[in-house]
Amino acid sequence: MKLVDTHAHLYFEQYRNDLTQVLLNARQAGLEALINIGIDLDTSKMCAEMAEAHSIMYAAAGIHPHDVASIKENDLEEIAALLEHPKVVAIGEVGLDFYRDISAPEDQRKIFKIFLDWSLEYEMPLIIHTREAEEDILKLISSRKKKGWRGVFHCFPGDEEMAKAVLDLGFYISFTGNITFKKSSSYRVMKSVPLERLLIETDSPFLTPVPFRGKRNEPAYVQYVAQSIANAKGVSVESVAERTTLNAMNLFGLSL
Ligand SMILES: [Zn+2]
Ligand SMILES: [Zn+2]
Repeated sequence: MKLVDTHAHLYFEQYRNDLTQVLLNARQAGLEALINIGIDLDTSKMCAEMAEAHSIMYAAAGIHPHDVASIKENDLEEIAALLEHPKVVAIGEVGLDFYRDISAPEDQRKIFKIFLDWSLEYEMPLIIHTREAEEDILKLISSRKKKGWRGVFHCFPGDEEMAKAVLDLGFYISFTGNITFKKSSSYRVMKSVPLERLLIETDSPFLTPVPFRGKRNEPAYVQYVAQSIANAKGVSVESVAERTTLNAMNLFGLSL
C-alpha cells in the first residue's frame, strides 16, 4: 500500500528526540512521501533543509494566517527564493483564519492575495488553511479574474455546500484524523467528496486519529485517515491509498 501524508509539521519540538524513528514508522506504514509544511519563514527554511536530508520528505513554504502579524521586512522575498528549491512543492500553508483573529483580517487578506498571485507566477499549488473565513476566501479566489489556481483546502472545515464550491473551483479537499472522531461533521462532509478530489493528511503533531487520539500524531497514522474514508465509501483501504497517492502526485508533481 502506497500512502502520502500531504500535511505535517515535523520541525516541532515534539519530534526532536525521535524523528528517525518517526520516519521509519512512516516507511513501514507504506508512506512514499510526506510534505512538511512551513508556517513562517524560519519553519519554511527548516522544511527545505529537512527535505534535503530525508528522501521521503518534501516541503512547502508559506506564512500561516496566524503568523502574518509577525512578518518581517524581507520575509516574503526569502519565501519567494525558497519556492525555487527543488524539494519545495507547494506554497503553504497560507490562507485566512478569522476564528482566533491572531492577525488582523486586513493583513491576512493582503498577504493571501500575494500568495494567490505567486501560485500562478511560480506555477505552484497552494495549501490553504481557513477557518471561519470560508466565504471570504472563496470570494477572493473566484472574484479575481485569473484562472488556473491549483491547490488543496487542508483540514477541511466547511460543510457540503462549501465543499461543492471548492470542487467547482478545481481545488482538492484534504481531511485529517478528525474524520475518525465520533460525531465528526467532517466525516459526513468527506462522504460527499469524490475520491478523485480527496487528499489525506495527518497535520502532525495535531489531530491524532482514533485509535491514538490524545497522543502525539505522526505521519504513519495517515493510514487511519485512509481507513476511515474506505469505510465511508465502502471501498478497500488499498484503493483509497492508491487514488489519494495519485492525486497527491498530480497536484504536487511528485514522481513516486
Ligand atoms: Zn492549518
Ligand atoms: Zn498545518
